[in-house]
Amino acid sequence: MFFSSKNTIRGIIAATVCACAMTISAFAADIAAIAPVGASAAEGTVLSAQQVDTAAQAQAQAEAERAAAAQAAAEAARRTLLNYQPVYGGMVRFSTAKSASEVITANGRALGSYKLSFYCPCEQCSGHWGGRTSSGARATEGRTIAVDPRKIPIGSRVFIEGFGDFIAEDVGGAIKGNRIDIYVGGHSRAQQLGIQYANVYIMN
Ligand SMILES: [Zn+2]
Repeated sequence: MFFSSKNTIRGIIAATVCACAMTISAFAADIAAIAPVGASAAEGTVLSAQQVDTAAQAQAQAEAERAAAAQAAAEAARRTLLNYQPVYGGMVRFSTAKSASEVITANGRALGSYKLSFYCPCEQCSGHWGGRTSSGARATEGRTIAVDPRKIPIGSRVFIEGFGDFIAEDVGGAIKGNRIDIYVGGHSRAQQLGIQYANVYIMN
């Protein structure tokens, strides 16, 4: 019993030493891989302080290059966004093709899930406002949404998952907090679209 537990301890020590040796050799291989040609350490030799410095510098440079590449990719994505076509409008309908792309999730400001309702220019939906919006813009299906301006500033470009791009250009008495009212051209369509929930992003 005593003997066997001693053996177990020896085994653990041996395994630990072995694991350390593997870690060190993996580290040496890493350094050899990133060190400039000619500076690679021959097997079994100890790296000089200068070689370690050179390796660290090479690693720092590689990291800086990766960071610069990531920044360039983010900038390219942002430029793609800035070259967005204006939101002209069109028929509002749900489509899974209008899910948030990587560009949108990376560059938009995610507002979380919003309750969506739909309104039209009829008296029941818009009272005396008709097709006029609070911002002065003419209400246009596929472009106009009513928002709570404390959540989404008027004029914001807003991506609504499943529905696409809109402009916040109207408000509504019942549209407070995480709610958006999406303008459509006719009352029956507004009713058909009902109430939905979707993730929302501010894109500017
Ligand atoms: Zn209506």
